Amino acid sequence: MKRQPLEPTLEDIERQHLRRRRATVVAYPEKGSHVEVIVDGRKLVDFSSNDYLGLAAHPALAAAMAECAERCGAGSGASHLISGHGHEHAALEEELAAFVGRPRALLFSTGYMANLGVVSALASRGESVLLDRLSHASLIDAGLLSGARFRRYPHCDADAARRLLAESTPQTSVLATDGVFSMDGDIAPLAALSQAARAHEAWLVVDDAHGIGVLGANGRGAVELAGLGCDDVPVLVGTLGKAFGTFGAFVSGSQDLIELLIQRARSYIYTTALPQPVAAATRAALKIAREEPWRRERALALTARFRAAAHEAGVPLADSVTPIQPIPLGDARIALAAQQALREAGFWVVAIRPPTVPAGSERLRVTLTAGHEGNQVDALVGALAEALRRIRASSAPS
Ligand SMILES: *Cc1c(COP(=O)(O)O)cnc(C)c1O
Repeated sequence: MKRQPLEPTLEDIERQHLRRRRATVVAYPEKGSHVEVIVDGRKLVDFSSNDYLGLAAHPALAAAMAECAERCGAGSGASHLISGHGHEHAALEEELAAFVGRPRALLFSTGYMANLGVVSALASRGESVLLDRLSHASLIDAGLLSGARFRRYPHCDADAARRLLAESTPQTSVLATDGVFSMDGDIAPLAALSQAARAHEAWLVVDDAHGIGVLGANGRGAVELAGLGCDDVPVLVGTLGKAFGTFGAFVSGSQDLIELLIQRARSYIYTTALPQPVAAATRAALKIAREEPWRRERALALTARFRAAAHEAGVPLADSVTPIQPIPLGDARIALAAQQALREAGFWVVAIRPPTVPAGSERLRVTLTAGHEGNQVDALVGALAEALRRIRASSAPS
């Protein structure tokens, strides 16, 4: 087909209320504040970041980054297998492995790349990959890229996963799921999935981008919360741009798993190593996450406060106990109107629409962090209730 004009496609996206627009955000305009942002000159309280522990703007991270940049420079200069693998990377990998209580960890530049690398290394053409229907886009793309046959089971339905594993030819080599689902906040049934994967000798890959640092007695995430270890969940993916406030990702598991990824994961091999200052800042973040458990406790306590207040105020909630709190609205236009109303009330909460979520499940996605204050949470609930009341009144049939 010849080159086509793009305008009609863009107009079509706009008509469906699915046009995405970026806001240019000035983050953390005041020292010490971890939640205020300035958007179009207006100061808003940010309830949409993934900075669950309030670390992204922590001065210790900035100091570690600056000190490392002075010492090592800004860039790593090459990939890990050439000359880009430095002391900060090596030390961070050891500390990450210790944090999650596993033999070894491997740093990736992003979570997206970690998932591509892991799934492609463990599954190939002629095998099959099984995913939760609401898995993160990076896991879906990983399944596609691997060239394996890939199928999805209904959200959080471990029985369905087990059935698909049993009837799967070719053999399923990878069963992958989010630990905490990124847009829904609910937690995968990891114990049941782990049993199913073991019974059918599949690799269980858990991408716990939103659980690590937040859930579990030691902040090791959804796997720890489920009481599972490295034998139950042999492949754990974590990201560093969420609870740890920096950038990057890691995969952790056995010595052999990591050694195989170094040989086979193309998104690890063929890309420039993360800048060492980013690794240094992440080491500072890990230290704080270990030493200040009050941060994850506070994020979860504010989550409980938000849920109680929202329930009281008649704001719809989803079935999530994590700091990801979707407000189901079911319509892109309503979700955008709610986002706009909250913005006018001083809150930055983003509408989530297809293709990020299935049509009919449009929502606002509220996130709670250790940086929020209780009264900000209460004020958000008040603004949400008011916004939904106004939107419903104006769209009710007359
Ligand atoms: C954010 C996210 C990723 C991607 O991580 P990045 O480091 O931002 O590329 C992967 N999986 C899940 C579940 C995520 O939420």
